[in-house]
Amino acid sequence: MLNIIASTHIAPADTLTVNGERLMQMMTDVGAIGALPNGGVRRLAFSPEDRECRQLVRSWMAAAGMTVTIDAAGNMIGRYAGRFPQAPALATGSHLDTVPNAGIYDGTYGVLAGVEVARTLHDQGIRPDHPIEVIVFADEERTMIGSKAMAGKANLEPSFYEHPHYEPIDMGVNFIGGDWAQLPSAKRDTDGLAAFVELHVEQGPVLEAAGNPMGLVTGIVGQRRYLIAIDGTASHAGTTPMPMRQDALVAASQIILAVNRLGNKTGDGYGEQVATVGAMQLSPNVANTIPGRVEMTLDIRDLSNQRLDAMVAELEAEMDAIATQTQTQIHIKPQLRNEPVPVNSHIYNAIAQVCDELKLPAQSLPSRASHDAQIIASITDMGMIFVPSQDGISHSETEYTTPEHCIQGANILLHTLLKLDQHYRCPEYLPAIRTESKV
Ligand SMILES: [Zn+2]
Repeated sequence: MLNIIASTHIAPADTLTVNGERLMQMMTDVGAIGALPNGGVRRLAFSPEDRECRQLVRSWMAAAGMTVTIDAAGNMIGRYAGRFPQAPALATGSHLDTVPNAGIYDGTYGVLAGVEVARTLHDQGIRPDHPIEVIVFADEERTMIGSKAMAGKANLEPSFYEHPHYEPIDMGVNFIGGDWAQLPSAKRDTDGLAAFVELHVEQGPVLEAAGNPMGLVTGIVGQRRYLIAIDGTASHAGTTPMPMRQDALVAASQIILAVNRLGNKTGDGYGEQVATVGAMQLSPNVANTIPGRVEMTLDIRDLSNQRLDAMVAELEAEMDAIATQTQTQIHIKPQLRNEPVPVNSHIYNAIAQVCDELKLPAQSLPSRASHDAQIIASITDMGMIFVPSQDGISHSETEYTTPEHCIQGANILLHTLLKLDQHYRCPEYLPAIRTESKV
């Protein structure tokens, strides 16, 4: 019986394709909402442009035969019915809100590719076993309130998200159709969501440098941020002899080079990590005074917590040696810790298999940027597909991905969802499928 139910809608990967022209037209139409003079877009979460854009996307979802709802967190969810309504959904999606000077691809591409997948299924009369959902997450770029609420991880107190440049978050969520007072109701789990696959532009230069393969995301890196404080002695730059100085900036400079060496380390599992000193303050910051104190940030990211621990331990040993040599005191304080999020291996394999079937070269890589997918991974199986970004540029008006890569990515998403439709067979709803199929 399983053979019968599993084979009704399966098309060979190379015969069923999305409508690429329609996808690119949707990209152009959405890019016009909040358009900036140089081809970019400014569509801040909860702005009138954000709301207008959602209305337009909602109309396309409806045209694909989807029912559209907005949950309490303001997530807009288009649902394409499956053959078995009691089955949990296979979901995709991303965000339509942008940073102030954005390109048109970040987030938007993942949403519209999802909509195009649904439109293709609708056009072809294909009805998967599971419902397919396309989720437009609320405010990805600043608070990730949409995905956090869906994962049950949102702070219910609006003041937690307070920011001098933004209106209160409860007002924003309500403006786009959410209902802050009911925020906990946005929570989902595996009973409703079997899997989530996010398609996104890479936002980095790795795929382009490798000759533009499709990106098989291995996980979203863990991120740790520290504050390093170096105390020396501020004294006269003319009268203090060189051997008698406790120059905090000289110590800081050596630490920066040590951080850079750690980032460049290879072998022993190293090679994907990044390490950055991005901000620094020195005092008194005067031309004729030896710097007495330096404060600087350290940001390290990797897929492995073990390697992150080892990097910090190695740097601490180096800082001890630098402190002795420069006669300074060095302290390091943790400020932020986001755990690495691996992707689900079944979804990763499904994406890899689809790339193979579509004869599209693919390469594994971690995501070093945050995405809604990393939050949703806490409630269901998660996978991600990347398409190449030209020159690796993102969060910029010059962000660009070729139409060819956009269309290829959407086809990978389409066939990945169809493959997962066959993979997920939860005991709770499998009997129902068998019964109905026998009728
Ligand atoms: Zn994004």
